Amino acid sequence: MSRGTVIDIFYLVAVVGFILALKALSSPRRARMGNLLGAAGMVLAVGATFARAGLGHVGLMVGAMAIGVAVGVPAARLVRMTAMPQMVAAFNGVGGGAAAVVSLTAFVSTDAKLLPIYKVLEVIFGVVIGSFSLSGSALSFAKLQELVTGRPIVYRGQQRVNAVVAAGILALLIAVLTTDSTVLLWILLVLSLALGLLFVLPIGGADVPVLISLLNAFTGLAVAASGFSLNSNLLVVAGTLVGASGTLLTVLMSNAMGRSLPNILFSAFGAVITAGTSEAATTRSVRAATVEDVAVLLAYARKVAIIPGYGLAVAQAQHAVRELANTLTKRGVEVFYAIHPIAGRMPGHMNVLLAEADVPYEDLREMEEANREMSTVDVALVVGANDTVNPAAKEVPGSPIYGMPIINADEAANIVFLKRSMRPGFAGIDNDLMYNPKTVMLFGDAKDSLQKLASGVVRV
Ligand code: NDP
Repeated sequence: MSRGTVIDIFYLVAVVGFILALKALSSPRRARMGNLLGAAGMVLAVGATFARAGLGHVGLMVGAMAIGVAVGVPAARLVRMTAMPQMVAAFNGVGGGAAAVVSLTAFVSTDAKLLPIYKVLEVIFGVVIGSFSLSGSALSFAKLQELVTGRPIVYRGQQRVNAVVAAGILALLIAVLTTDSTVLLWILLVLSLALGLLFVLPIGGADVPVLISLLNAFTGLAVAASGFSLNSNLLVVAGTLVGASGTLLTVLMSNAMGRSLPNILFSAFGAVITAGTSEAATTRSVRAATVEDVAVLLAYARKVAIIPGYGLAVAQAQHAVRELANTLTKRGVEVFYAIHPIAGRMPGHMNVLLAEADVPYEDLREMEEANREMSTVDVALVVGANDTVNPAAKEVPGSPIYGMPIINADEAANIVFLKRSMRPGFAGIDNDLMYNPKTVMLFGDAKDSLQKLASGVVRV
């Protein structure tokens, strides 16, 4: 068997590893194994690449990898769970940039005139999509990190400017195809970088996770294109896997938000945050409770549903919530966690946080499953969640979240909100559930309230 065939077999095993990794990552129970499988596949792929005959610049490659490891490993270890979306944006942008550079190099390192037209097309595709993804991801990172405003940045004639730049890219694409000009390819790269920025400007910070998932899909396609340029089956398959899974994730996220992808990308959601907030609502009063009131309510309940949201992640209250659940379980109270698919700021946010605090998987219920039980629940404890329990999604046709599936906390016998104020959630709208006669508000930081509640329940 030739060396090339052996390497191809290793690549095939690596690709199978990537596919199994994606499958395992779709369940919280097997997610860790999925990560390990993906990493093992990548080690195999990189190792097999180093075994290729006639490989040059080995020192440079090892050096680049060492820098990548030195930056990537501490970044991944130190990142806070609430900052995960921006880390994904950063890594994704670098991937897109790398794909663009690979495609560009494939073009400038040969006599472009000798390249068949489909090869030039692959190069152009890699350059355009890769650079778009690089600059788009960089701006997404800046928005999420609050280096620039998270509000949509809109100006008059914005869509027209974007359309003109997109048309310029299309014209240049045809010009490069017909002239094989390296200069025009460079201009194409710069325009694609510009379009990436312009495209992301009007997208609000809280919609950026959906955008990142889409850019991730683009990066996958750019990598697949550079795989074609380099005749690398591995890159083609791996890039396509990223493209397909990123697209599916984008669609799942938009569906879970009850909004279409064009609405997320083009409506500058969040620029105007008054929609759905009624004047009457702001003057209504809510029932504020004390820690003791809520501790008694919880201690004498038979069944408690904990509904975590973004505020739980901000407060880093995952351990405190598990402590409270343990205390209640010891008293014989049945406790489960109702997980909305987009609670938090990225898919799976709550699952990851709760897994970090060793909450048993059996106690987590997905939205549909949780909703089946909600009418039998004595207390729905809403911890730093807001939009994901807002009945306006079912009842108010004009509301920005109308159509979004929610956790039916309103069906529980009692509802308790743990949050700091009456401020709205991401969608910027009032939540009628807080004014429901069954609802009490325990104001304060979620972690602090949960810790006090745990000791309060012990005292009951
Ligand atoms: P929300 O954003 O609706 O609400 C979070 C609430 O947490 C706020 O009302 C805030 O109130 C409270 N909060 C913040 N910090 C703390 C703290 N330290 N202690 C206690 N409470 C706190 O969160 P949900 O999880 O319910 O909904 C997620 C939203 O994010 C949805 O609108 C969804 O569409 C959007 N989104 C989700 C994505 C995903 O993939 N998960 C992607 C993109 C958007 P207060 O300030 O009064 O404390």
